[in-house]
Amino acid sequence: MAAFGSVFMPEMAMAQFNGSAWDAAAIVPANSISLHPGAHVLHYASTCFEGLKAFRHEDGSVAIFRMDKNIARMLQSTELLSLPKFDPALLSQMILDIVRHYAADVPTPPGSMYIRPTHIGTEPAIGKAATPTLTSMLYVLLSPVGDYFAGGSRALRLLLEDNARCAPHMGMIKSGGNYASALQPTMQAKAKYQADQVLFCPHGDVQETGAANFLLIDGNEIITKALDTSFLHGVTRDTILTLARDLGMTVSERDLTVAELLERAAKPGTEAALSGTAAVLAPVGTLIYQGQDIKVGTGEPGATTARLRQALNDIQWGKAEDKHGWLTKI
Ligand code: PLP
Repeated sequence: MAAFGSVFMPEMAMAQFNGSAWDAAAIVPANSISLHPGAHVLHYASTCFEGLKAFRHEDGSVAIFRMDKNIARMLQSTELLSLPKFDPALLSQMILDIVRHYAADVPTPPGSMYIRPTHIGTEPAIGKAATPTLTSMLYVLLSPVGDYFAGGSRALRLLLEDNARCAPHMGMIKSGGNYASALQPTMQAKAKYQADQVLFCPHGDVQETGAANFLLIDGNEIITKALDTSFLHGVTRDTILTLARDLGMTVSERDLTVAELLERAAKPGTEAALSGTAAVLAPVGTLIYQGQDIKVGTGEPGATTARLRQALNDIQWGKAEDKHGWLTKI
């Protein structure tokens, strides 16, 4: 199968803000957009995006997972980047319109239709380094996808990195610059340590990887950093923590230091996992710290990780009751 996110449906939903009002959303070709080379986004990175998925159920119907939560995060990113605000109902309608348009192309599980809302500042104004864009473009791309981490259940290797992924007030914003700033450390970790991802732990504070949240599972307890501005408030993280509570597990949202992580990782029953829309819940088998490989528990994918991943997939795939109202049928 093609690399994750490299295949696009030929049309997308699009709406533009002209400085005073949003125009009516339309379905337009997805192969190009027209931007002035001086557009605000290209110089001052006024951009944010989202990632969510639509799933095909056994009866043929299609459901979008946690659409409202992703739209709320997109609005939060928009506001924190001083992009023009939009009505959540506008984006919700755009997502529904384009997913309905391509309902027949939504893959069957374990595949899905990845949905990528994007918001960019379009004003041609290179003098506005410290001033918001007046105009913007909001569009929703679709990309049919399979499993993100090929092999799905292979335990990942994470390099513990002492630096931050991005500026501490930017982490909760899903914006391109944060990914750009994580690129060099991630490429170095791959080349030097054959790591799959970097786990950013500035000053020993365990935060997240380049595209997923980090969860430590110690017996009946899940430990993960409490929400603050420094990292992305993952929708999958919230989902897994809710499912874990439903299963009677203890959820501890609090600071986790590298020292505590390494100490707990050494115990045989410990598991670790990455949560994200793309990663789903991916097992972590090895932490690389100060040049040493340290196994998490046995180093193999853990049973609790598999159980939680299954519980999540079962809801997404329409095989378990959607008790929390997370699915939007199109
Ligand atoms: N952290 C970062 C930096 C991400 O890019 C993502 C996105 O997938 C996540 C965490 C997980 O967020 P979500 O579960 O909403 O996909």
